[in-house]
Amino acid sequence: ASLFGHVEPAPKDPILGVTEAFLADPSPDKVNVGVGAYRDDNGKPVVLECVREAERRIAGNLNMEYLPMGGSIKMIEESLKLAYGEDSEFIKDKRIAAVQALSGTGACRLFADFQRRFLPDSQMYIPTPTWSNHHNIWRDAQVPQRTFTYYHPESRGLDFAGLMDDIKNAPNRSFFLLHACAHNPTGVDPTEEQWREISYQFKIKNHFPFFDMAYQGFASGDPERDAKAIRIFLEDRHQIGCAQSYAKNMGLYGQRAGCLSILCEDEMQAVAVKSQLQQIARPMYSNPPVHGALVVSIILNDPELKSLWLKEVKGMADRIIGMRKALRENLESLGSPLSWDHITNQIGMFCYSGMTPEQVDRLTNEYHIYMTRNGRISMAGVTTGNVAYLANAIHEVTK
Ligand code: PMP
Repeated sequence: ASLFGHVEPAPKDPILGVTEAFLADPSPDKVNVGVGAYRDDNGKPVVLECVREAERRIAGNLNMEYLPMGGSIKMIEESLKLAYGEDSEFIKDKRIAAVQALSGTGACRLFADFQRRFLPDSQMYIPTPTWSNHHNIWRDAQVPQRTFTYYHPESRGLDFAGLMDDIKNAPNRSFFLLHACAHNPTGVDPTEEQWREISYQFKIKNHFPFFDMAYQGFASGDPERDAKAIRIFLEDRHQIGCAQSYAKNMGLYGQRAGCLSILCEDEMQAVAVKSQLQQIARPMYSNPPVHGALVVSIILNDPELKSLWLKEVKGMADRIIGMRKALRENLESLGSPLSWDHITNQIGMFCYSGMTPEQVDRLTNEYHIYMTRNGRISMAGVTTGNVAYLANAIHEVTK
């Protein structure tokens, strides 16, 4: 028998499969609101001007040497300032163990492996629903998973009471995965006041919050505002973990630029934790890629480029917020009797529309509109050119 005869094809990724189907459709009307990557108002991918300028500066004086095992020191420094605050006492006190990671996914995976190795009896509490890859990441790292209540289907908002109950009922010192902002797939975030209550309850229970921050700046348009949840937990003097990604907010998707950080008790602990994170990375990929890290550190290190970035990230967020408004207004002016308030209440890349899998199938089969069957619309795929068509189709299938 053949050596690999028993290998069955893997199930298709629910998100990446949507793009394949979209590409295979010859219809001129087709719309892709499946993929979680930013598009401009013509539906085209975008390279930020600050990134182009950083690349011009890199060209000519780049060598191709390896980065240190923990990645670019400069990139890590800038990333910590972004997440923890420019003047963070924790940075000054060197209490943060941080390594460059293979974007947000790699940061989550490295943390999961660390958790498995050093806290082998721990579990990870993951919100329902969440980005589907979270389940794969902690599964492959062999960390047992629990879920906690997050989304309230009737209101298409947060189930705050359910969330608080689950926090209270989890064993003391549990690990929780929290989306720092722009929750994927729901677009539903706690308010500042709710974050304070969550933080307070975490303190009582001694839980450990791990923040997945894949959209800093991309949600509100302001990276400081999008870091509010983390800052509240820092004020309350929690130890935290944080996965940062530059995929969305700098448009560096394929560069795999990110950072994993763990706030430790003191500098000595941080040195130990960092050395162990590096040791986990070493047999997997040795050291992280250099180009994206250079782009990030050049942009964040140069006041002029940084302010250009802030302007551009706000431009992306504003376009998406504008499309939310347009989609909702179009649905309302078509006379839809349903409430579409949640389109504008939700934030970030996605709108969790509340449409059923059957309604999504009709959108795809009858209108050539491609999205995941959980009803998640990528707002980045909505443009002034297709918003009316999309609204009409949604109205037809939800009648
Ligand atoms: N976390 C969440 C919640 C995400 O939505 C994403 C991107 N879809 C990621 C992490 C990781 O993305 P990347 O690995 O490209 O940074």
